[in-house]
Amino acid sequence: MKILDGKVVSQAVKDDLKASTVAWKEKGGKTPHLAAILVGSDGASETYVASKIKNCEEVGFKSTLLRFEAGIEEQELIAAIEQLNNDADVDGILVQLPLPKHFNEEKVINLIDPEKDVDGFHPISLGRLVQGLPTFVSATPYGIMLLLKHYNIETAGKHAVVIGRSNIVGRPMSILLSQNTNPGNCTVTLCHSKTQNLKDLCLQADIIVAALGKVSFLTADMVKENAVVIDVGITRVADATKKSGFAIKGDVDFENVAPKCSYITPVPGGVGLMTIAALLTNTFAACTRK
Ligand code: NAD
Repeated sequence: MKILDGKVVSQAVKDDLKASTVAWKEKGGKTPHLAAILVGSDGASETYVASKIKNCEEVGFKSTLLRFEAGIEEQELIAAIEQLNNDADVDGILVQLPLPKHFNEEKVINLIDPEKDVDGFHPISLGRLVQGLPTFVSATPYGIMLLLKHYNIETAGKHAVVIGRSNIVGRPMSILLSQNTNPGNCTVTLCHSKTQNLKDLCLQADIIVAALGKVSFLTADMVKENAVVIDVGITRVADATKKSGFAIKGDVDFENVAPKCSYITPVPGGVGLMTIAALLTNTFAACTRK
């Protein structure tokens, strides 16, 4: 069993981006600039945004964080997005999800200029992905593709089971794995909460991507020998032994599944770090392709 190490690969991606940014600026290019919007003070969202900002600094990007109280009016958020859309210095815009309940997330995401949609959540980005056109690919599935590529995981002709059909993870993941690319060319089964024979399907899978948000859902009896297992899940579980008071848990019962796998991602230290590396890659592309 080998670990698909998000720490190592995300660092390699960031080192490349840092060097590319220096080279780009030497040629007279502008500093890539990511703007993040955070509404409210959800603990996990605070952590994710802080990490994105810190990673921008690491690779030499500029970043801007716009913070709003949870109770702001929709119009105020709309105005902020429009201002960022019109700001020529801003290359990428992300709105940290989830938004407080009184917002319509779909409406808010649809306001982001697709040319700056570095999270890849806009319907135009997803539509272009479906058609195999160049686009901003949603950062988490994109990060997983970078991880598969780095480790030269053979995917062509393999059966991949993706568990979860969200627009930001499961569905784009299923599309990417089915495309005529490398990695790609898998035969993909997309499973969800109404799938009836999930265990049987998983047992046929060469590659399993678990993205449902249920701690230790994928157990050893659902995984065939030598499968590649990608754990997307991030759930905070109370843990008094940790300084933070919680531990981060994935969707895979790592301890028992890992011995059966050819490759597996850990949580933490796997997909989460790759998501940020992919976001930075999209931001650099947004800046340099103009
Ligand atoms: P979501 O809640 O939008 O979607 C969950 C999906 O799982 C749904 O499509 C649902 O049909 C499916 N599902 C639920 N129960 C199921 C079951 N019993 N059997 C089969 N399918 C089932 O979640 P999401 O936004 O896609 O996120 C999924 C997980 O990934 C969460 O833990 C989230 O925190 C995590 N996540 C991690 C990253 C990262 O960078 N590592 C990024 C995004 C999301």
